[in-house]
Amino acid sequence: MAKILIKNGTVVSPTGRHEVDVLIEGETISALLQRGQAEAIGVSADKVIDAKGKYVVPGGIDVHTHMELPFGGTSASDTFETGTIAAAWGGVTTIVDMALQRYGENVHEGLAEWHRKAGGNCAVDYAFHQIIGGVDEQSLKDMTYLVDHEGVTSFKLFMAYPGVFYSDDGQILRAMQTASENGATIMMHAENGIAIDVLVQQHIARGETDPKYHSISRPSLLEGEATNRAIVLSKVAGNVPLYIVHMSASEALEAVAEARNDGMNVFAETCPQYLYMTLEDHLAQPGFEGAKYVCSPPIRSKHDTHAHHSDLWKGLRMNELAVISTDHCPFCMKDQKELGLGNFAKIPNGMGGVEHRMELIYQGVVQGHLSLERWVETCCTTPARMFGMYPQKGIIAPGADADILVWDPNGKTTIGINDKHHMNMDHSSWEGFKIDGKVDTVLSRGTVLVENDTYLGRKGHGKFIKRGLCQYLN
Ligand SMILES: [Zn+2]
Repeated sequence: MAKILIKNGTVVSPTGRHEVDVLIEGETISALLQRGQAEAIGVSADKVIDAKGKYVVPGGIDVHTHMELPFGGTSASDTFETGTIAAAWGGVTTIVDMALQRYGENVHEGLAEWHRKAGGNCAVDYAFHQIIGGVDEQSLKDMTYLVDHEGVTSFKLFMAYPGVFYSDDGQILRAMQTASENGATIMMHAENGIAIDVLVQQHIARGETDPKYHSISRPSLLEGEATNRAIVLSKVAGNVPLYIVHMSASEALEAVAEARNDGMNVFAETCPQYLYMTLEDHLAQPGFEGAKYVCSPPIRSKHDTHAHHSDLWKGLRMNELAVISTDHCPFCMKDQKELGLGNFAKIPNGMGGVEHRMELIYQGVVQGHLSLERWVETCCTTPARMFGMYPQKGIIAPGADADILVWDPNGKTTIGINDKHHMNMDHSSWEGFKIDGKVDTVLSRGTVLVENDTYLGRKGHGKFIKRGLCQYLN
C-alpha cells in the first residue's frame, strides 16, 4: 500500500490546531505523528508532502449541489465530470447532489437517473439527497426504502416553485411524519412560493422586468414566514430533524435560532453568495448583467430593515447556522440566463460556486468573521456529521478517508473567468473576488488530485458514499 507523509503542517480541526504530521496508507489516514516521530520509527513514505507554513484540513464537503439539474427549460451547465473537477480545484473532496423526483415521476427512477449521470464520471466522492417533488402514498413508501437500502437519508422539499417542485403544507407534514418513523432528515427550501408568484406577476404586469425584481419580488419576510411554518410542522410531526437550506434572511435565522433555543432538531445552512453579495452591487448591475446573480432565495438588499450579511455571519459563529454549502447550480449567460431577457421570472435560478466555497469562507476568517476552526467545522466536519458520513469523512484522524486539503495562508487567489475558474460556465459568479490564501494540494482517499496548480485526478475516481442518519439529534 502506498504511503504518503504530510510533514510540517498545522492540522486544523473544529477543536483546535496541532503541529503533527499525517501518515496516509492506501486510501485512509493511518496515524497522526509527533514531529520527528516518522523518522524515529523509520516510516518509509513513497511520497512526502512538505506542508511547512500551511494548514492541513479535511477535504471540503459541499452538501448542496445541482449538477445537470433540469430547470427553467434548460439544465445546469456542469456535468458530474466538470463539476467535480472544479470541486477538486477548490479543495472539495465530497459533494452531496440533489437527485430529482418531479410531480408524477417515480422516486426510484429519479435516483437511478442520478446514479447514471454520476457513476463513473466523478473526480471526487459523491452522495445524494433525494428531492421529492410529488409527495403521495408511493413516494412516502419510497422514502423509507431509500433510507433503509440506498444510503439516501435526507429529502428535500420545496415551499416555493408552485407547479414545479412545490409541496403544500399537508404534503410537507406527511413527509415529515414519514421521516419521524424512518429517521430521515427533511431539507426545506423555505420561501412562500404562492405569495411570491403573485408578486412576480404584479411586477411583470407593471413592466418591471429587470433582474433586480427577482429579489424585490421575493421579500425576506416570506422566507422568514416559510421557515417558521416549516419549523412548526416539524414540531407537529414530532421534532423531526429539519434542515433549512440556503438561508439568506435575518427573519429566517431568527426563527431557526428560536427553535434551536427550544431544543428542537432544527438546523440550517447558508451559502457564500448570501454572505458577500447585495442586490445593489450585483443583481442591479446595468443591462442584463444582474442575471448572473439570480438565485433563490435571492441576494438581499443592503438597505433592508435587517443587516442580513452580518446577521448570517453571527449565526455562523453562534451555530444557529451549522453548515456552509454552495447551492451550486451554474448556468451560462448565453442561451441559458438569456432565456430571461425581458422577463426576470424566466431567468434560470442558480449560480456556480462549488469551486470557491473554501476560498470565500477562508476570506471570512481573514476578515475576522469566523475562526479558522469554525471554517473547518462549517465547511468540512459538520457537513459530514449532519448527513451521516462521519468519521469516514470530515476529520483528519486515524481510520478516516485520506481526503485532505493543504491550504497555503501565504498564497493568493484571484477568482475570475480568466483567472482561477474551472466550472463549465461562460462567466464567473465570483469575478474579481480576491482571496488571501490558496488551495495548495488536494487529496481524495490518498490520491493526489491537485498539486502545483495542476489537476492530476481522473474521471471515475469518485465513489458513491452511502450515508447514515443525521448525527446531531436530540
Ligand atoms: Zn438548491
